[in-house]
Amino acid sequence: MAEKAVSKEDFRIYDTGRFYKQMNKNSSNTMALAPNTSSKRETVCIFGTGDFGRALGHKMIQSGYPVVFGSRSTQTSSLIPKGAEVFSHAEAAQKAAIIIIAVQRQHYNFLIPLAEILRGKVLVDVSNNLKINQYPESNAEYLAQLVPGAKVVKAFNTVSAWALQSGTLDASRQVFVCGDDMEAKQMVMAIVRALGLTPVDQGSLLAAQEIENYPLQLFPMWKFPILLSLGLTAFFFFYCLARDVIYPYVYENKDFSFFIAISIPNRICPILALILLALVYLPGVLAAIIQLYRGTKYRRFPDWLDKWMLCRKQLGLVALAFASLHVLYTLIIPIRSFVRWRISSRIVSQALNNKTEPLNTTNAWLSDSYLALGILGFFLFVLLGITSLPSVSNNVNWREFRFVQSKLGYLTLILCTAHTLVYGGNRFLSPSSYRWYLPNAYMLSLIVPCIVLVVKFVLIFPCLDKPLTRIRQGWERNPQYSEQSNYIINKSAV
Ligand code: NAP
Repeated sequence: MAEKAVSKEDFRIYDTGRFYKQMNKNSSNTMALAPNTSSKRETVCIFGTGDFGRALGHKMIQSGYPVVFGSRSTQTSSLIPKGAEVFSHAEAAQKAAIIIIAVQRQHYNFLIPLAEILRGKVLVDVSNNLKINQYPESNAEYLAQLVPGAKVVKAFNTVSAWALQSGTLDASRQVFVCGDDMEAKQMVMAIVRALGLTPVDQGSLLAAQEIENYPLQLFPMWKFPILLSLGLTAFFFFYCLARDVIYPYVYENKDFSFFIAISIPNRICPILALILLALVYLPGVLAAIIQLYRGTKYRRFPDWLDKWMLCRKQLGLVALAFASLHVLYTLIIPIRSFVRWRISSRIVSQALNNKTEPLNTTNAWLSDSYLALGILGFFLFVLLGITSLPSVSNNVNWREFRFVQSKLGYLTLILCTAHTLVYGGNRFLSPSSYRWYLPNAYMLSLIVPCIVLVVKFVLIFPCLDKPLTRIRQGWERNPQYSEQSNYIINKSAV
C-alpha cells in the first residue's frame, strides 16, 4: 500500500511472477521435469550425502540428471536416492563439471587437497549460517578463496531439504543465484529451471552475504509495523481505560469495566487503522519536502525514511486488519446487552414522561453521513489491500498500480478522516468530552492524517508541484557534477 517507492523486492516479485507465468505457458519447461528428456543432461556431482545433498540429488534424478555423490564413505546406503552412485570426493569430482557442495562451511577444509581436481569446475555453494553476518565474508566468498581455480556460484540456500523432498515448493520457488563467472551462473540457472524452480539472478558473488542472510530473517518488513501497532494499541488501551472506565468509577461510582471487552477494542481498532493508513502516506510527503529542499532526487534519503518507505505495504495491511476488526465489532453493536438496555430505558422514560422525542434531522444527517463515509472508506481500503497482493499487482501495469495505491489511497485517507471527523461532530468543543483534561481518543487519531492531508494539499499547488515533478524527472537546482566539471574546464582554460 505504498504511493511510489515499491521496494526492490516488489520488483523482483513482479518480474519473477511474469517470468514464472511465462514458464508455465512454455511446454519445454514441463518437459524439463520429465526424466526421459530427449537431450541428455550433464552429470552433476554432489559433495555430501546429508539431508540436503540427498534431497537435491533426488530432485535432480527426477528431472533427468545423472547424479554422483562425493562422500567420505563410498559405501552406498538405502538413503541414497535410487540411480545415484557414491564415490570418493576426488573420483566423483572428475565425473562432472558442476559440483554442489552440500557440506557445512566449517568442514570446507577438506576441499583444499582437491584444489587441482576442482580447477575450472563450477562449485555451487548451498550453505547457510546459524546467525546473520556470522562470518566477515560470505560462505561462497570463503569457498572461492579456498579453491581459487574454481568458479563459485551461490544458489539453492533458500530452498529447504524438506520442501525439495516433499515437493511442497510453492512458497520457495525462487532460487537466488549469484556468481562472478557469467557462464557458470547460466549453467546453474539452467539446472534451477530444469528442477521446476525460478532462478533470480542477484549479480556477482558480492551478493552472497545478503542471500545467506535471507533465510535467517523473520518477517523483516513486518517488524516495524507490528511493533508500532503493538505500542500504539497499548497506549490507546490505557488511555481509553483511564477515560472511559476509571474516570466514571472514580467520579460517578459507575462500573463500566465491561467496556474492556468490546467498547474499548472498537475504539482502538479504527484509531489504529486511521493512524497506520496515514503513516503509509506520511513518508511520501516527507520525501517530497526533502527533495524540494535539496533541489535534487540524487541524494539518498536518511536510512530511517528509506526503511519506512520499504514497509509501507505492510503498514497498510496491518491498518486494513484493524479496519476489518472495527467493522466486525460495529456489526455486533445492536446485540450488546448494554446497548439494548440503553435503548429500552430511553423508550421507557419517554413513555413515562408521555413525551416522544422529535426526530433531529441534523443528527440523522450526521449519523447517515458518518456511516456512508465509513462504508466507502472501508470499501476502498479493501481494494487497496487486494491490489497490493503480488498475484494482483503482477497483473496491472506500473501506472495502474500507482493510480490505485496513490490516488485511491489518498481518497481512502480522506474518506476515513472525514468518517472520524463526522463521528466527532460537535463534541470537539464540548468541555464534557474532556476527562482529566484528556480529549477523546479519536481526536488524537486525527492528528497524523490531518497533517498528511494538509501537507499533501499544499504540495499540489503549482508553485511546489511543478519543481517537484521536474526534480523527480531528474532536474537539479544546483547540479553538482556539471559545476565540478565547469570548474575543471575553467581552471584548465586559465
Ligand atoms: P548434514 O545433514 O549435516 O550433512 C552434511 C554432510 O556433509 C554430511 O552428511 C557429510 O556427508 C558431509 N560432512 C560432514 N562432515 C564433513 C567433513 N568433516 N568433511 C567433509 N564432509 C563432511 O547437513 P545438510 O542439512 O545436508 O546441509 C548441507 C549444506 O546445505 C549446509 O551447508 C546447509 O547450510 C545447506 N542447506 C541445508 C538445507 C536444509 O534444509 N537442510 C537447506 C538449504 C541449505 P558425507 O558423510 O557423505 O561425507
